[in-house]
Amino acid sequence: MTLNILFAAGPDRWEDYARPLHKALTDAGLDYHLATELPPEEVDYMVYAPNSTVQDFTPYTRLKAVLNLWAGVEAVTGNPTLTVPLTRMVDAEGLTQGMVEWVTGHVLRHHLGMDAHIVNPEHRWAPEVPPLATDRKVTILGLGALGTACAEMLSALKFDLAGWARSPKEIPGMTCHSGPEGLAAALEGAEILVLLLPDTPETRDILDAQALARLAPGAAVINPGRGPLIEDAALLAALDTGQVGHATLDVFREEPLPRDDPYWAHPKVTVTPHIASETRPPSAARVVAENIRRHQSGAPLLHQVDRSAGY
Ligand code: NAP
Repeated sequence: MTLNILFAAGPDRWEDYARPLHKALTDAGLDYHLATELPPEEVDYMVYAPNSTVQDFTPYTRLKAVLNLWAGVEAVTGNPTLTVPLTRMVDAEGLTQGMVEWVTGHVLRHHLGMDAHIVNPEHRWAPEVPPLATDRKVTILGLGALGTACAEMLSALKFDLAGWARSPKEIPGMTCHSGPEGLAAALEGAEILVLLLPDTPETRDILDAQALARLAPGAAVINPGRGPLIEDAALLAALDTGQVGHATLDVFREEPLPRDDPYWAHPKVTVTPHIASETRPPSAARVVAENIRRHQSGAPLLHQVDRSAGY
């Protein structure tokens, strides 16, 4: 039977995704009809993004699964009309690779103190040699698909690594902490902190004044996770006292970041416009097709969201 697949991830993405999805669905050996408009009661699978116009899933009575193109699912997990399985995007070749590159670049910027030489209007000759990575404490909060991949790269560079997740982990070259009781130890003395947690009720405002006080004085905070992980007033206060030396922020409570937000003008803040990593159509299409193939053959879906945990 032909599967009806609705592309509901937004008309602006259709042009980029149409060809890769057709290729991946064909390569997966599926008999399918892919379209941006279908009668709701005839849709079998939905390729989705949380900013889709589809917010009420009730009319989709035949729907088997919703395949989200984004890694972050906080805007859809609480939707009470969604009762079928929801998957999130985990894509080693695209999204993950992009995040590893972005995080590694920004960690190295702070580790090597690159700014002092890139912007040096007084032509100051100050030969302060940075320590080796082995002597630089880096902590990653969130050791999922993205945090683990970043940890592996930073471990290869020999950083003194600590990490934190909900459940216990073993990652070579990293001291892993877990559970609410493990957070303080993960943060203690970190000189560079990377946030790769999802936005859930448990993680919101996790980087508050108390958490920031545990970092090494002058630490760098790098947030490619989600804006609500940080209590903004606490971060701004820590930047002003020097407890935090610099914050590189890719995500914000409100996006686009309002033009009058204090982060824009703060001399110790780098704002990047939610570009740390993006879903790449060719590899993401293969992930979507593989999941539909699996579900059709009775195999468990990959990357299914635990909606009670919120990620
Ligand atoms: P993931 O695989 O679901 O990993 C999430 C990690 O956070 C897991 O290690 C999880 O612990 C941990 N975690 C969740 N709740 C926790 C809690 N209450 N206490 C401690 N640890 C907790 O997600 P991912 O694919 O790595 O993505 C992480 C986030 O990155 C996404 O949710 C998204 O918000 C963000 N993101 C941003 C961009 C960007 O361009 N800026 C791009 C993609 C993704 P367990 O391992 O124990 O479950």
